[in-house]
Amino acid sequence: MTRAASPCRIAVIGAGVVGMTTALALQRQGHAVSVLDPRGPGEGASYGNAGFLATELIDPLSTPSTLSKAPRLWLDPHGALAMPLRYLPRMAPWLMRFIAAARPSRVAEGRRALAALNGAAVAAWRRCLADIGAEEELVASGYLLVWESGRGRAAAKAQMAHLQHWGIEVEWLEAEEIRAREPGLTGELSHGLSFPGAHQVRDPHALVRRLAAAFEARGGVIRQTRVERLEPYGEGVRLHTDAGEWDADRAVVAAGARSHHLARDLGLEVPLETERGYHLTLPQRGQPLRQPVGSAERRCVMTPMRCGLRIVGFTELGGLSLAPIRRRYASLRRHAGALLADRQGLDHGAEEWMGFRPTLPDSLPVIDTHPDVPAVHFAFGHQHLGLTQAAITAELLAARMAGDAPALDLAPYRVTRFSRRWKTE
Ligand SMILES: Cc1cc2nc3c(=O)[nH]c(=O)nc-3n(C[C@H](O)[C@H](O)[C@H](O)COP(=O)(O)OP(=O)(O)OC[C@H]3O[C@@H](n4cnc5c(N)ncnc54)[C@H](O)[C@@H]3O)c2cc1C
Repeated sequence: MTRAASPCRIAVIGAGVVGMTTALALQRQGHAVSVLDPRGPGEGASYGNAGFLATELIDPLSTPSTLSKAPRLWLDPHGALAMPLRYLPRMAPWLMRFIAAARPSRVAEGRRALAALNGAAVAAWRRCLADIGAEEELVASGYLLVWESGRGRAAAKAQMAHLQHWGIEVEWLEAEEIRAREPGLTGELSHGLSFPGAHQVRDPHALVRRLAAAFEARGGVIRQTRVERLEPYGEGVRLHTDAGEWDADRAVVAAGARSHHLARDLGLEVPLETERGYHLTLPQRGQPLRQPVGSAERRCVMTPMRCGLRIVGFTELGGLSLAPIRRRYASLRRHAGALLADRQGLDHGAEEWMGFRPTLPDSLPVIDTHPDVPAVHFAFGHQHLGLTQAAITAELLAARMAGDAPALDLAPYRVTRFSRRWKTE
């Protein structure tokens, strides 16, 4: 890792997995780094994700195929896609952009950009965790994607060929092979795909806390403070916080699903929305699964973690202020009940949680520097892949901030790609 020519005071806004990996990367360059967040480390979306490095998710969320399936998923009361109708008018501009992102040329560009990040993701996590002596947080678990209906065979074959074309290791499994590998699953499955090279983390919240502890042990400071506004201040930046003003040489906005609020005050319109996702964690349950298991039809993932069996699902377009919708938990119970060999622990005592995935219409994150305020940088918008892409995002942004050539071309992740400025570039 390159050391900075001149160490400076850097404020990282947001103590999620993206903010904490970025703070550590900047600290490694010799900077004095503070992290500001009104909540504790990893208490946002990074708390309750599925803990899976989903490197095989190289397709943008908006494609002709996903758009054609969306109405059915939305109308199904247990379907993976939800949008409270009263939110529709607010969502309309984002949805229009989301639909426009399904143009084949944009899907192809998006796939290349996601595959580039995902392809570098595991190695970056290894470097990050080796640096702080926490290698055991990352587990070479493999991943299983299963289908219940034989009607999905052609889709699974096509998906396998597509992923192999992109260099992703994937194997076909018939029902009896699935049963042999995962006896905790129902015997009612038809077929599946196995990803032997896939990784998970042991516990996503514990992971962020461990990053935070290493950061503090090296002299980093975490302040429980909300940043209300950023303002250019000389060559640096002034942070207006709920605890007063605070000046830094540079700031990194890594505030997850709320990042666009801070960008807007600096003249940048970024169409960030949240895809709300839900989880159940069954802490009392003996581990019935050996690896993360996804259901292609139900679009949920079950991950065995140190803290219990976690079942996650749903893409709910409902903004940041709506309370969690309780029937989603019943749907998750229903899905897990159909996929697992026994329902023990599903009905009582599970932790219920909802979190905000930060998502842009083209499914790509922002990893960039403000075009007019060079002291302000951005790392947000990682949708379903924030855990997967956090460590590589941190490396890329830190390299850019140090004036080095990042290991990947950052053009697809620029902050201005949706604004008028971008159109006139
Ligand atoms: C149900 C579910 C399952 C998922 N499963 C996976 C998975 O298996 N694999 C994967 O890769 N990804 C997964 N994700 C996505 C992943 O969790 C997110 O992309 C990732 O956590 C985003 O990290 P972040 O640091 O950007 O945001 P967050 O973790 O949300 O952190 C942002 C932080 O910024 C703080 N903040 C906000 N505003 C301010 C402000 N004004 N001032 C100061 N601080 C502020 C917040 O308090 C928060 O702590 C899942 C998400 C969900 C919801």
